[in-house]
Amino acid sequence: MNAKARSIIKDISLASEGHLKIDWASAHMPVLNRIREQFEKEQPFRGLKVTICLHLEAKTAYLAKVIQAGGAEVTITGSNPLSTQDDVCAALVEDGITVFARYQPTPEEYKQMLVLALETKPDLIIDDGADLVTILHSERPDLLPQIRGGAEETTTGIIRLKALQREGRLQLPMVAVNDGLCKHLFDNRYGTGQSVFDGINRTTNLVIAGKTVVVAGYGWCGKGVAMRAKGLGAKVVVTEIDPIKAVEAHMDGFEVMPMIEAAKIGDIFITVTGNKSVIRREHYEVMKDGAILANAGHFDVEVDKPDLYALAVSTRVVRHNIEEFALADGRKFYLLAEGRLVNLGASDGHPAEIMDMTFALQALGLRYVNEHYEQLGRQVVNVPEEIDEQVARLKLESLGLRIDALTPEQETYLNSWT
Ligand code: NAD
Ligand code: SAH
Repeated sequence: MNAKARSIIKDISLASEGHLKIDWASAHMPVLNRIREQFEKEQPFRGLKVTICLHLEAKTAYLAKVIQAGGAEVTITGSNPLSTQDDVCAALVEDGITVFARYQPTPEEYKQMLVLALETKPDLIIDDGADLVTILHSERPDLLPQIRGGAEETTTGIIRLKALQREGRLQLPMVAVNDGLCKHLFDNRYGTGQSVFDGINRTTNLVIAGKTVVVAGYGWCGKGVAMRAKGLGAKVVVTEIDPIKAVEAHMDGFEVMPMIEAAKIGDIFITVTGNKSVIRREHYEVMKDGAILANAGHFDVEVDKPDLYALAVSTRVVRHNIEEFALADGRKFYLLAEGRLVNLGASDGHPAEIMDMTFALQALGLRYVNEHYEQLGRQVVNVPEEIDEQVARLKLESLGLRIDALTPEQETYLNSWT
């Protein structure tokens, strides 16, 4: 059966639009273009099957094509019910990639697509948030033995993999792409910083300047979101549970306070903690009428939806991706993109130039795990420093930027103690 016959997508006739999107993205991904040239020559994945679970939009589609160019038979599925783009799926099917995904599946369909992608019996996997790894370890351990290893995209995924590893249950080596410097320094900070406002602006079409924006979590993503909120003219409040991050936010010039205080003054709330119930009943009870609630952390649990539904006397969709919650006292709150990652559920996610670096690490990380899986063992593996540096050098080159090199005298000086 060929990719077209195997795939489950919305509509193959959308392919031409998808090809245009992928062409636009790939034209702005110079590092990945260089890796593609290498892969075409060296065929590092020749004869192997690779299953990818990532936000299925144009930049991800190009990563899939790069891995295919390296000789792999690629299957792809989405990592969030709102981020899959049906035209991109159609284009990939035309290009010979098996796709199990469509926009807004039911929760059962979403899960089924992941299972189908694993039933192709991959040698290697790319995961986002440990969705594939969770299915493999909890429900389908029969599919584990043939998998050599994989690579994980995001902070929460790595937290989960490390929890599995601590329990002695992780059954394969997984490269922690998120912990690579060329990932979180750029993707989590500048990518999330920009694309979160892309999502909020497209959805609400309201002004940010002059509003009080509350950012929950001052990690790599939170720093980017707070920085961009400030740049757009917002008054920015940060909430944290980590005293060091809280001091950092304070020194960076932001107001720091607990959520119960921030809840009273915020106009727009953006959660980026990777934690659950960061905004909950006690906070809704003191929030201002008209508050806008958005999340950019993993899954849809940071803004507590069960509490919101319990408090609301009525709900309705007032614009695409905006749900209104009306309370008995007349206040109304607005939840964006179902409380899922607003930058992916309500926009195209991070820009191409950012995903260029992240996906360069994914491509090279996958190659690394394939070449070393026997020695790596069943554990979370750091991105090798050489790969991080190679990606940064290729990025600099593509930007036309040059840097200095150490003189022999400087090198000796930096390696001596006298
Ligand atoms: P991080 O670990 O660098 O930062 C998370 C921060 O949240 C930490 O400083 C932590 O102390 C803080 N925190 C935890 N619980 C909190 C609470 N109850 N209230 C306030 N602060 C709290 O992680 P990160 O890399 O910034 O990622 C955050 C989340 O975003 C993760 O779930 C990650 O997977 C996801 N992520 C999303 C995108 C995106 O495109 N939207 C991009 C990268 C990562
Ligand atoms: N399944 C989880 C995954 C969290 S995803 C969920 O949907 O809640 C967070 C990851 O999305 C980040 O680590 C980031 O690298 C990735 N991401 C951001 N923009 C993207 C894009 N345009 N294409 C693919 N992945 C993207």
